[in-house]
Amino acid sequence: MHTTPNTLALIGNTPLVLLKGPSEAAGAEIYGKCEFANPGASVKDRAALGIVEDAEARGSIAPGGTFVEGTAGNTGIGLALVANAKGYKTIIVMPETQSREKMDTLRALGAELVLVPAAPYSNPAHFVHTSRRIAEETPNAVWANQFDNIANRKAHITGTAEEIWAQMDGRIDGFTCAAGTGGTIAGVGMGLKAKDEAVCIALSDPHGAALYEYYAHGELKSEGSSVAEGIGQGRITANLEGAPIDTQFRISDAEGMEWVTRLLAEEGLCLGLSSGINVAGAVRLARHLGPGSRVATILCDTGFRYLSTLYNRAWLEAKGLVVPPWLQHD
Ligand code: PMP
Repeated sequence: MHTTPNTLALIGNTPLVLLKGPSEAAGAEIYGKCEFANPGASVKDRAALGIVEDAEARGSIAPGGTFVEGTAGNTGIGLALVANAKGYKTIIVMPETQSREKMDTLRALGAELVLVPAAPYSNPAHFVHTSRRIAEETPNAVWANQFDNIANRKAHITGTAEEIWAQMDGRIDGFTCAAGTGGTIAGVGMGLKAKDEAVCIALSDPHGAALYEYYAHGELKSEGSSVAEGIGQGRITANLEGAPIDTQFRISDAEGMEWVTRLLAEEGLCLGLSSGINVAGAVRLARHLGPGSRVATILCDTGFRYLSTLYNRAWLEAKGLVVPPWLQHD
């Protein structure tokens, strides 16, 4: 028998599952890393633990101190859980456009929640700048700074990438995911390239983000918009610096939602939209790499976090997205 020594050790070592529909669609083997299986139900538990342990190792957080962070929600949820397990407090700053479920979850976990209006990064009221200010004004507080703190991507170099490599027995042709902070794509990309330079790393960028144009043509430029939460970056964060991106795809919300709906109806996986966009990207990458190729991607978080949005008929209709048959009579 096997036991786990403490609750923080539950973070990571997630399963890697073969996705049947996407594999058939691409004539390839497409695997999803089940990050919804982390205790906070998202990939961001890894970054949260990495950032907290890094602050401890540097001696920048004192016992009973406070972690402050600006987040689309999932990093806050991960931080709140890790902080609770280690005796710290959390103050989480979040744009009020994020899902209601994430706000309720953060409050339920004991985080102090500060909601701010959505604003461009250049505006001092942006959630990231607000969180830095609160950290500076709060005694014994540390700003987690997930966008520019490379303890974030390090968690993916030493964790996620190593796990994917071992789970695929070193037989992997490509990896893709979208970027929020960029910690996942950069960290997994760097980790896999260190094992085998030939692994193709592809960015799957939602509409409204600027990275597709940056990697394709060297210019940060965006077009359109996306309702996907947690992804869509407009600048090169410290985590993205030096990310080994070989190719890039631009994925629409409609294409991502098609996979969200199919994975639920056909394979029993309830996921968020960033996962759908990642799977759509994985299908494109596998087609690009050719028949029989082996591609991995990230299933970032649970769909239970989006019952009032992605799984709600009125919301889907308002956003012009397809309503699945089983929600049409709500
Ligand atoms: N999907 C979701 C749902 C997220 O919350 C995040 C984190 N912002 C991501 C994807 C992207 O991960 P990363 O920050 O590592 O780029």
